[in-house]
Amino acid sequence: MTLAALPLRRATATAVAVALVASCATTSLPPIPEAGPGFEPARDERRLWDEARDQERRLLGRVALWDDPLLDDYLLDVTLGLVDPRIARETPFALRVRVVDEPTANAFAFPHGPLYVHSGLLARLESEDQLAMVLAHELAHVEHRHLLRLQRRARNRQIALLSAAIGLSILLGREQAEALDRGHYGRAATIGVLADVVIGLGLGLVFLAAINGYGRDLEAEADAVAFDKLEDAGYDVADGARIYDILLEDAPDPGSKFEQYFLSSHPALEDRIASARAYLASHPRRAAAAHPPRDPTRFARRIRPLLRHYVGRLVDAGEIDRAEAAVERLLDVDPDDPEALRAFAAVRVARSRTAPPERRAALLAEAIDALESATAARPDDPDLAWELGLAAFRAGRRQLACDALGRYLALAPGGENAARARDYLAELRRDGACAGPGAD
Ligand SMILES: [Zn+2]
Repeated sequence: MTLAALPLRRATATAVAVALVASCATTSLPPIPEAGPGFEPARDERRLWDEARDQERRLLGRVALWDDPLLDDYLLDVTLGLVDPRIARETPFALRVRVVDEPTANAFAFPHGPLYVHSGLLARLESEDQLAMVLAHELAHVEHRHLLRLQRRARNRQIALLSAAIGLSILLGREQAEALDRGHYGRAATIGVLADVVIGLGLGLVFLAAINGYGRDLEAEADAVAFDKLEDAGYDVADGARIYDILLEDAPDPGSKFEQYFLSSHPALEDRIASARAYLASHPRRAAAAHPPRDPTRFARRIRPLLRHYVGRLVDAGEIDRAEAAVERLLDVDPDDPEALRAFAAVRVARSRTAPPERRAALLAEAIDALESATAARPDDPDLAWELGLAAFRAGRRQLACDALGRYLALAPGGENAARARDYLAELRRDGACAGPGAD
């Protein structure tokens, strides 16, 4: 720090402080619906949306989406039923819902409208009311411009800190000049370094603070808005609020791959449950508005393909208890669903691997029964034949294994398991099995 630099730095600091204070922006923003169809995003909001679009593009390059057009249609349909009617017609943002194929329980919204739900969260939900709660909560973040509010708040905090830092730096500058006047060069140099550190540190802290997510108050607001939306749309608010209980009951063991991120930037789950209960207690339910009846099986039907896939991922990850719970829900919807039976068999086989010998046979027998029922419904499905063959092989039921593996090869001679199926068949024949249709 030279003598000449001092007054210049003071002048610059003052100019910066004035410019920053002038740009301090309000954080009490009216929700988008209040502006109606004529809503125009603010200047910094436009920038935020552009940034968000960019981030969304990058996200889509990195994650796998669950590709089920009927599920996407259904999710959008539920969402449209929850959008504030003042903006439903000419929504200023890109309203769509997509499913990220991730086993974690997460949902998030971009400020320009797109909502994302992880398959892991969908698979944990029990009803359309709970689904509506998740979507309404995320929609509330969008409609109430929570990210912009958060951004402005962080910027204002940054400005406040920066102004304080600059004030301190001016003070230190004066001290420094006096020290120099008195010929205390060492002291002057120390003060100069200190002033630089104060400005640098102020900025760093604000950036750290900005990573804390929407924060407790905006999350509570999102829940309150969501409850209103559910009520307006004729959903069961108490059932919707149950998502927090479900996530709490379902809280993963430490170290599990199936962590919950839906609440990572949210207050603790107990906190959410308590605030939801308090809200419901202090807001007596309005008389239900007239709504056309919803098809009660719609949720289960649309979620079913995802749930089956999810069971497979849980089994692969060794999360057998979770997989079993999901399978039970599948079989509740349709006890004869071949895919649900197949998932049931996969869970039984997985359990048999670590079961004591006397229990092992019973588990494999249940798996075989389920696969035989599924095969009766779908005799031409090679994967079912392969799985049945494998379960029978494990259970030592050689003739059944021969028949099933032979059928697999007949249905899919070039299938991905064909080489292994031939090996197993050769082994069975060597041991004198495969007298029946399994023989070539
Ligand atoms: Zn939230």
